[in-house]
Amino acid sequence: MKVLVPVKRVVDYNVKVRVKTDGSGVDIANVKMSMNPFDEIAVEEAVRLKEKGLVSEVIAVSCGVAQCQETLRTAMAIGADRAILVETDAELQPLAVAKLLKALVDKEQPGLIILGKQAIDDDANQTGQMLAALADLPQATFASKVELTADKVSVTREIDGGLETLALSLPAVITTDLRLNEPRYVTLPNIMKAKKKQLDTLKPEDLGVDVAPRLKTLKVSEPPKRGAGVKVADIAALVDKLKNEAKVI
Ligand code: AMP
Repeated sequence: MKVLVPVKRVVDYNVKVRVKTDGSGVDIANVKMSMNPFDEIAVEEAVRLKEKGLVSEVIAVSCGVAQCQETLRTAMAIGADRAILVETDAELQPLAVAKLLKALVDKEQPGLIILGKQAIDDDANQTGQMLAALADLPQATFASKVELTADKVSVTREIDGGLETLALSLPAVITTDLRLNEPRYVTLPNIMKAKKKQLDTLKPEDLGVDVAPRLKTLKVSEPPKRGAGVKVADIAALVDKLKNEAKVI
């Protein structure tokens, strides 16, 4: 069984992003880029399934600019067998990515598609769900445990009231939550090995997908700055402020 793992190149989670002065977006020039953390968890999970002998091939896929190749090499250093880059300079929104992934699902026929639950740049939390709808596949989002058998996968999900366990028939779409696993560190020998693995490049046109944006960003702005705090003399003063100033009680 093949597993398809979509990985997104995003601004590294340690970077403090800045809004462009014209409010059109976030400045990503000369900023460190990395694999979306939830996608690292997805690659790790797929590789663990392969190491258990339940999966025959792990295919990483990224959609975006040519530099996404670096993200794909990282996925292959973690243990993915080969990679596909759908290369475009166009701005890709979740629906466009889901359509590209649907075309790849038709082509590769994976038994499982494991995505991150959300990308930390757009925080959309949409692509996995849209892919499941477009490909008409069962989905289990926010997975914290995955147990695979030959024709079924059991997924434990973190929900408000506790844990929910779903049984899905294959093929299926899963999105990863933070507690699913702790991704391994990539070693130098594996980085070297990854350089030799197969990486195919396609264009959205090759997959017959129109990736034109459907949503328009009107404005991006910084969150308001936090004001300085005040010290209150006693509990009565605190309660008075909460009641009459903040009006929260
Ligand atoms: P989002 O819906 O944008 O929050 O992204 C959810 C997940 O979809 C990510 O964690 C990735 O697994 C996948 N994804 C989103 N955008 C891309 C992309 N450009 N290339 C590959 N995978 C993507």
